[in-house]
Amino acid sequence: MSMQYISTRGDAPRLTFDEVLLQGLASDGGLYVPETLPTWDEATFEHWRNLSYADLAVEVMWPFVKGTIERPVFQQIASETYASFRHLAIAPLTQLNTNLWVQELFHGPTLAFKDFALQLLGRLLDHYLEEKDKRVVIVGATSGDTGSAAIQGCRHSSRVQVVILHPHNRVSEVQRLQMTTVDADNVLNLAVEGNFDDCQHWVKTLFSQPEFMPEGLNLAAVNSINWARIMAQVVYYVYAGLRLGAPHQKVSFSVPTGNFGDIYAGYLAKKMGLPVKKLIIATNSNDLLYRTLKTGRYEKAELIHTLAPSMDIAVSSNFERLLFDLYQNADEVKACMASLNSTGGFDLSEEVLEKLREHFVAERSNDDLVLEEMRNTYERTGYLLDPHTATGVRAARRKAEQSHPIIVLATAHPAKFDQAIEAAGLKEHLQTELVESLRKKKERFEVVGNDLESIRSVVLKQCKKA
Ligand SMILES: *Cc1c(COP(=O)(O)O)cnc(C)c1O
Repeated sequence: MSMQYISTRGDAPRLTFDEVLLQGLASDGGLYVPETLPTWDEATFEHWRNLSYADLAVEVMWPFVKGTIERPVFQQIASETYASFRHLAIAPLTQLNTNLWVQELFHGPTLAFKDFALQLLGRLLDHYLEEKDKRVVIVGATSGDTGSAAIQGCRHSSRVQVVILHPHNRVSEVQRLQMTTVDADNVLNLAVEGNFDDCQHWVKTLFSQPEFMPEGLNLAAVNSINWARIMAQVVYYVYAGLRLGAPHQKVSFSVPTGNFGDIYAGYLAKKMGLPVKKLIIATNSNDLLYRTLKTGRYEKAELIHTLAPSMDIAVSSNFERLLFDLYQNADEVKACMASLNSTGGFDLSEEVLEKLREHFVAERSNDDLVLEEMRNTYERTGYLLDPHTATGVRAARRKAEQSHPIIVLATAHPAKFDQAIEAAGLKEHLQTELVESLRKKKERFEVVGNDLESIRSVVLKQCKKA
């Protein structure tokens, strides 16, 4: 029997994994979540302890895909996915202090953690599209890292067209080059004259009005509204937990957070049985989640552009999945989302706020604090942090009890954000060979206005290539 997926808003059909993968957003505007979660006991963790990353990935993800794919095929896909990484451990841990660890999630092709999910997603798409003899057009918004990871994940997929919207002049140079220098016919980069939230809004709007698409061609999502991304991210939490003593030793994770996808995967790992003490939400000045934890009110604010642009987000889409889990009630989620749309925010119930605080703590760091953390960490350990990871390290130092291992997810390689490294005065220590070749390549992107009409028409143009 395959896993059933249900919408957080309760009014969309139940789907299986292959259908969720190809669809993204549910037809009622909600996000798909698995109806039930598998649970892992102590014996399971003991059994998993010595598995390679790819083998562990198969074990962790299998219950979510079972019934839609043959196990050897899935194994082959997982093994190819992680063979594209530049470190044999795939997600190695580096120690900074007695109980402070960094898990390096930046050894994939685009130097950020999003490769973990999007390298897999591209290969899964190939498999299911081939089997179903279908084609899709991926439309995605990016604050910088999703776009390049999605493009790298799908550039060879003959049944996929990729359209990526990024905010014009609002992504780092390396982020832009990683997207725009890919010379593939099925890739279109759109530089939107707006900010990331505008991009995300246009993508959501296109998904909510799929009638504009040509007959027989579907839209598919690569943002973390796509369940497959969350699923793939659960794996490295388990991998880190096992290395530092699970099931007998509790650990905490500090996670640089924007759309709440990465840390939500950590919450799921905890629910399934990984002994996690706290999940630390690390934000930059876009502190929506920090404020939510503090006040119980989730309220949108003006977007602030920071040195950690992949976390410059005013609405955290995946928080909806957590709400659904905490309320256990789709009507409550619908009411929250309706209030968010009409008034820009909503209040959590006392009970839900209490549950939220049981699992999560939060810390925010503005640009000055980020730079200070980068310098401090470098001076004391010789380890160079990218600005996103720096929010995580600072949050870990301030928020976690130091009595058990704390793992900071290092979400990007510092070379990807050399402007921040320069601002911190650390440029001389940066190794840039990973990105230098990009600067010699030809860029390809189209600038479009910040309006639905313009965006829809270029997407349609790309559909003709499918
Ligand atoms: C995407 C991203 C984040 C935020 O992850 P979410 O899943 O959106 O919370 C943090 N750091 C980097 C480098 C990223 O690319």
